[in-house]
Amino acid sequence: MASQASSTPTGTRAGWPRLYDGQRRVLLALLLHGEDSRSSLAEYVGLSRTSLTRIARELVRMGLVVEGESLEPSGRGRPAEMLHLNGNAAHFLGIKLTGDALFAVVTDLSGAVVDRRSEQLTGRGVHEVVQQVGRVAAGLLAMTTLPVAVGVGIAGDIQYRSGQSILRDSGHLGWDEVPLAELVTEATGLPTTVKNDVHALTAAHHWFGGGIARDPLVVYAIGAGIGSGVVVKGALVEGRHGRSGRVGHLRLGGEGRPCLNGHVDCVHAFVTIPSIEYNSGVERGEYAIALDRARTGEMRSLRAFRAAAYSLGAAVAESVNTVDPELLSLMGEGLAMLDLAPEEFDRGLAEFLERVTPAEVAIERPPFDFSLYARGAAVAAERKLLS
Ligand SMILES: [Zn+2]
Repeated sequence: MASQASSTPTGTRAGWPRLYDGQRRVLLALLLHGEDSRSSLAEYVGLSRTSLTRIARELVRMGLVVEGESLEPSGRGRPAEMLHLNGNAAHFLGIKLTGDALFAVVTDLSGAVVDRRSEQLTGRGVHEVVQQVGRVAAGLLAMTTLPVAVGVGIAGDIQYRSGQSILRDSGHLGWDEVPLAELVTEATGLPTTVKNDVHALTAAHHWFGGGIARDPLVVYAIGAGIGSGVVVKGALVEGRHGRSGRVGHLRLGGEGRPCLNGHVDCVHAFVTIPSIEYNSGVERGEYAIALDRARTGEMRSLRAFRAAAYSLGAAVAESVNTVDPELLSLMGEGLAMLDLAPEEFDRGLAEFLERVTPAEVAIERPPFDFSLYARGAAVAAERKLLS
């Protein structure tokens, strides 16, 4: 195993094995499809039995794969030796940054969360936040000597220039032109990937959230903002400028309500949590109050949630028209409009769909909690190594 020891604030840690393509393909197949016998795995990844046997031996030696129970064959012949992923072979630290807080999880190789932490940001400047990320990393990783990679998820555009990733236009923290991955690597001593938070959430839902067999896959995230991610032929589509999936500024008309970009009556002006608060007549941060009022039938709040549901339906319809997904997943902490006014969501969808009926569109609402963003960031780091 060719490994590099990286010096970290917490001591010496095993480095990442350098994997070649065949090794990555076998590892990925076990990761995404579970334990398997050598013969069916060879067929699945398109390798000869001989190659597969060699690669399996190498992965076992690296500790990434373990040989398990033999499965008795149903007919005659030798029992099939099963291969399993060794989830405990590596850790990933995923960090989601919002405008005022940091959410961190540690995941293992199988995407399971093994530790977590959240803190308010102690400052909003790039240097202060990066130092805080370094402290959180040192704390959470103090006990592990496994190889670790870091993923950071943040609102904004990730652009790639000369092999370097640059964070652009990150509204919540007011950052622009920040080489965040490089800075976090300096602060932690660990390889770091930075992704748009919704793109990271999408990639994690594709691998570990039930989206693996559904292609194209579209994931919507609704909360402080609205955004979406797209997976086509197994790959996350980030786009030329890191801006794919920027739904939410479709103009709907009717109310004369401006969004932050100055558009009148765009989806954004109705669908996000701050918009619902404003349209309900409550203070910023009082989403729960607006929700309570709508649930008890208070008309102004109820109207705000109905408009949000209709707007979301319209936005979703445009994604369906563009990508024609096999599955569209609605995620995020701001989806109460679907409980309060499902018929308005369906109405928006029906009005904006082109030659497809709402019944023909597969839409799911998987279980969501906010830590999935941090997990998405961890999975983004893992995807970088394995795909
Ligand atoms: Zn707008």
